Amino acid sequence: MNRASTNKEVRINNQKNIVNTLFRYGPMTKQELSTRLNLSLPTISVIYKNLAAKGLVAHGEKLESTGGRRPSPIMLVFDARLSIGVGISTNHVRLVLVNLGPTILSTQKHPLPYSGTVEYWQKVKQLVRNFIEENKVDESILLGVGFSVQAPIKSGSVILPSAKPIDMTGFEPEILEQVFEGPIAVYNDAKMACLAQVWGAGEEDDLVYLMLSSGIGGAIITDHRLLRGASKNAEFGHMIVRENGRLCHCGQRGCLGAYCSTRALQDQAGVNMEDFFKELKAGNPSFHSIWDEYLDVLALAVRNLYMIFDTDIVIGGEMSEHIAKYLDRLRQRVARLNPFGNQSDFVRIGSFGEYDSAFGAALLHNDKFLS
Ligand SMILES: [Zn+2]
Repeated sequence: MNRASTNKEVRINNQKNIVNTLFRYGPMTKQELSTRLNLSLPTISVIYKNLAAKGLVAHGEKLESTGGRRPSPIMLVFDARLSIGVGISTNHVRLVLVNLGPTILSTQKHPLPYSGTVEYWQKVKQLVRNFIEENKVDESILLGVGFSVQAPIKSGSVILPSAKPIDMTGFEPEILEQVFEGPIAVYNDAKMACLAQVWGAGEEDDLVYLMLSSGIGGAIITDHRLLRGASKNAEFGHMIVRENGRLCHCGQRGCLGAYCSTRALQDQAGVNMEDFFKELKAGNPSFHSIWDEYLDVLALAVRNLYMIFDTDIVIGGEMSEHIAKYLDRLRQRVARLNPFGNQSDFVRIGSFGEYDSAFGAALLHNDKFLS
């Protein structure tokens, strides 16, 4: 490696460290940055100039000082770059606009039943277009549009062959690329929801995300990063929770997905989710027994995940807002099943509700940019 490339690498590395430090710890004076990063003040000044020219950093309000010149902290300009996440689910398209904060600046939810057709993706494209226009997003600062879909995906837009895909039957990224006229990034929804939890909510390093939607997926975070596995992992929906139980779409019996997905619940009750919870609240006895079984099975799954991973088990997806209202009941069941005591506060609800996976898909663009 020659000296020039080494110098360039050092410069880029210093820039990256400054951006990351401001991102992690908030505004700082040049002196504080210099001490924390062990860089000279002139070096910090040069890097500041470069980053400020890109609109990424600015001087904040001057700090109080007991005497002499008051120091002015450097801060990251969160709105300097924006990302969009698009959550594709069976019946809806959800959109989020996110800055570097990361703060969700805007959300939209549109009813649109999924189909793998060109027409479907053209409608999605139009929704994204409208979203950009309505939010007056300057496209020159848009880092990208990320899609989260209910399909197993290895990385980027590479879709793995899945023996029995649930909702995204016939999902072909090529159609998406054709419609969007360029490379797009598609990610697995549960994995994105989990990243949103860790990066968006500033969570601890390890956790397990259990995503309950029309299908069930999951993700495992270790050391702040997604556990990727060889091809797919955290397919919690196919954990067997009842021997010889209900038939799952995978062909096996007793899978969690056949009990705790929104689809399974709707099949059992014969009504849609909204009506189910309305009538449950009103005291419908048969819905009470359906819900009791739902919570029993879910508690078992949560208990088993906790035994394996010994981390918080975070529930997300379309069911999460409903489970939040019955979290005490779920925790009581989990506590009864815990062989090491009666704790169960390790099971909790994710922070971003139904927008979790779209948020994560947007955050991946932020992360690429920040690093
Ligand atoms: Zn199954």
